[in-house]
Amino acid sequence: MAPKRRSTPIIEGRVGMYVCGPTVYSDVHIGNCRTFVSFDVIYRYLMYLGYKVRYVRNITDVGHLEGDADSNAEDKISKKARLEQLEPMEIVQKYTNGFHEIMHRFNTLDPSIEPRATGHILEQIEMVEEIIKRGYGYEANGSVYFDTNKLLRETDVYGKLSGRKVEDLLVETRDLKNQDEKRHPSDFAIWIKADERHLLRWNAPWSEGFPGWHLECSVMSTKYLGERFDIHGGGNDLKFPHHENEIAQSYGACGNTPANYWIHSNMLLLNGRKMSKSEGNNITPVQLFTGDSPHISKAYSPMALRFFFLQAHYSSTLDLNDASLGAAEKGYRRLIDTYNTLKGLSSTVSKSEHALAGEMEQGIQAAFDEMNDDFNAPKAMARMFELCTVINKLADGQLSTDDAGQHTLDTVTKGFSDLLFVIFGLLDESAAGADDHMDQLQGLMQLVIDMRQQARLNKDWPTSDKIRDTLNAIHIELKDGKEGTQWKINEK
Ligand code: AMP
Ligand code: ZN
Repeated sequence: MAPKRRSTPIIEGRVGMYVCGPTVYSDVHIGNCRTFVSFDVIYRYLMYLGYKVRYVRNITDVGHLEGDADSNAEDKISKKARLEQLEPMEIVQKYTNGFHEIMHRFNTLDPSIEPRATGHILEQIEMVEEIIKRGYGYEANGSVYFDTNKLLRETDVYGKLSGRKVEDLLVETRDLKNQDEKRHPSDFAIWIKADERHLLRWNAPWSEGFPGWHLECSVMSTKYLGERFDIHGGGNDLKFPHHENEIAQSYGACGNTPANYWIHSNMLLLNGRKMSKSEGNNITPVQLFTGDSPHISKAYSPMALRFFFLQAHYSSTLDLNDASLGAAEKGYRRLIDTYNTLKGLSSTVSKSEHALAGEMEQGIQAAFDEMNDDFNAPKAMARMFELCTVINKLADGQLSTDDAGQHTLDTVTKGFSDLLFVIFGLLDESAAGADDHMDQLQGLMQLVIDMRQQARLNKDWPTSDKIRDTLNAIHIELKDGKEGTQWKINEK
């Protein structure tokens, strides 16, 4: 069972991956979580293939303006700080902590580097200077704009990623503010002169101001991954303008486009519609974990949700609703339970021919093949479900484990375990729960053992026998020895 490497990285054996992280001005929403879980699986799988992966996921803590506008609008973090009468950095810290907590509940691995935009202001000023020096940027009234017209005249890189034509670019950007300062309507701000409302501001050669939102990702990806790196990711709502503008900036500053592969995750819907706070079509991760929302009938665990995210390919939309979550919860339990069953199976007879070996080993290989085909987790899971049927027949004796053979059982068990826990990043929640309850079980058993001991001292044999027999019936065995009575749970 050998997972295959298909794409060629820029540096042999290493992968550089940059993913646009959250803007930390409010609680992370469940759509963001889907995107970050999708990239977590990609990160995990690349590492599983043996690559050394440097995964950079930024924190946007300046420059992301209301309505994704270009300038004149208020910075999202700055606005929240003003409304809550807090320091902008208090807002940033609060929602960054909240974001990390939720990511950990989803068992998402931390990125290798998590840079913040405000920690890279100097580098952003330098990139603006470079863009101006190379003739792709111009100053107007203290702000600096990227000259998209020059780029469009020289190359065909701008608009390609999002499939936009020049005419479309013009239409999409026509309604933006500060058109009078721009030479061309599709030009975008890379440095913005701060008006009096702006709390976040820095001194730069052009004005006291702040960087345009798109600039941070160009700067931080270049700083940590180089001018060209392997994978750039984010939600597909970022293709335009954010990623197109990153491409423009890289071209303007370095003369090339930044990433070899662009990976965009698709949107999470709620009851078939785009999630929107203003329309009330919204649900938070915490509401999902507690069941406290009119959109759902009960609570769903983080792992049921993680499984749910993996049930659609990252590039397809995914609709969250009570029925789809319920199905995911069942699917999650079936895979985990079947894995636990599989672990307990063994074959004692060694034969020269094992009738089931080919089918089972091909089944698990097929799951890895699906992962090799653009990280297709839902199809890999479908292959695992096909194997579940065979495994459950082995467990209930409809098929013989001797026809599978020990080698096959071991191979399939390892493949299942790697896919479920290492690659999909699932946890067995029932096992975690069992650990939590072990102390209580231990205390309860000590009480039962003490009561039986008392009955025996009182020569109350019917009571002491009843305790032993009742425990036996639920597969708990008592063993009397010199050190007192021990207990153990037997396999059913
Ligand atoms: P933001 O905090 O808005 O900058 O978004 C952080 C990340 O989440 C970006 O990669 C977005 O593309 C992604 N994202 C935003 N909304 C959704 C959604 N409804 N479904 C999936 N991903 C989303
Ligand atoms: Zn970005």
